[in-house]
Amino acid sequence: MRSTFLPFCRPSISEEDIAAIGDVLRSGWITTGPKVVELEDLVAARTGAKHAIAATSGTALMHLTLQAMGIGAGDEVVGPSMTWVSTPNMVELLGGRNIFVDVDRDTLLVTADAIAAAITPRTKLVIPVHYAGAPVDLDAIRAVCSARGVAMLEDAAHAIGTQYKGREIGGDDSAIFSLHPIKNITSGEGGVLTTNDAELAARVRRLRFHGLAVDANDRRQQGRSPQAEVQEPGFKQNLPDMNAILAVRQMPRLDAFIARRDAIVGIYRTRLAEVDGIVPLDDPVWSHKHARHLFVVRVDERACGMDRVAVMDGLKTRNIGTGIHFLAAHGQKWYRENRPEWVGNLPNTEWNSARICTLPCFPEMTEDDACDVVDAIKETLAGARSTVAGGIR
Ligand SMILES: *Cc1c(COP(=O)(O)O)cnc(C)c1O
Repeated sequence: MRSTFLPFCRPSISEEDIAAIGDVLRSGWITTGPKVVELEDLVAARTGAKHAIAATSGTALMHLTLQAMGIGAGDEVVGPSMTWVSTPNMVELLGGRNIFVDVDRDTLLVTADAIAAAITPRTKLVIPVHYAGAPVDLDAIRAVCSARGVAMLEDAAHAIGTQYKGREIGGDDSAIFSLHPIKNITSGEGGVLTTNDAELAARVRRLRFHGLAVDANDRRQQGRSPQAEVQEPGFKQNLPDMNAILAVRQMPRLDAFIARRDAIVGIYRTRLAEVDGIVPLDDPVWSHKHARHLFVVRVDERACGMDRVAVMDGLKTRNIGTGIHFLAAHGQKWYRENRPEWVGNLPNTEWNSARICTLPCFPEMTEDDACDVVDAIKETLAGARSTVAGGIR
């Protein structure tokens, strides 16, 4: 058994990263300034988007963007319940209605057909999620949205570095990336919206900072012109430079990070093929580059003799950390009690919500670490099988 704990995720922070944060602290300018501009420019260049806007989190950007798109009372927003609660929560807080669609059982991605069936005259927006770093079928979903006259905003929290049919996510449509510490690159907390819509970009920029007028020149200088006036009441969700510098330093390492994650996933795939009842997600069938943000398996109790809680506990006692991404939003207390119409009506989401488990996958993991995880799973399940056999005897 391992002598040290292996978490399911750990950010890659180098001594140079730490020194660079120190430099920002010593510079005398620690809030939004040149490092945020640098980060926005790097993300725009990487994705090919015309505009990139950084803020304090992916959730903050979802809030700002929904507000900028005018989502309000009675507006329907179509998206999966199999996502992080931040998106459904923002829709509710703005007075909108979440219209949850089921996901594909083995990729956890929303489909164009399910979205098409959920759109009504009240639908204002569709928010597909590039789950675990795999892209949704963007061409098909975009076609449904444009045929029905509905906007699309991608939840790309898992998808920095993901490609769909050779195109980087975030370059063709509006997309929100997260820079939370578990994501593929991080700024401690943070997020970036990419868009080609100049009006949306300008509105999110000003909503990010009190609703003050911003022009291109303000991006190039520290702080803002003191004469700037409120154009509309806004929020306070600007990213500090002391955070931005970390993601600025990580962006050039993104491909190397993904390559390491991909190697770990390759080991898991090979070695888990021998283990009944621990079932990885499928990759999508369309051409793509997977960012390997999360390695998710389903614990199928009928096949492995143990439920998810028991497997996670067994791994924990063997010094292996795991996570759940995610418990379906519609099954959580507030949604169950206030939006009960979804309970029982999203079968693939509910089946997975009860069984998914995220195994450790991060760039600094070694091949031995991945093998330790698989060995610990086998030992845990062997315990279950011998208990069952003992019970029968
Ligand atoms: C992490 C995450 C978010 C929110 O990002 P934060 O930066 O943590 O606010 C949104 N959607 C999904 C699917 C996520 O995993």
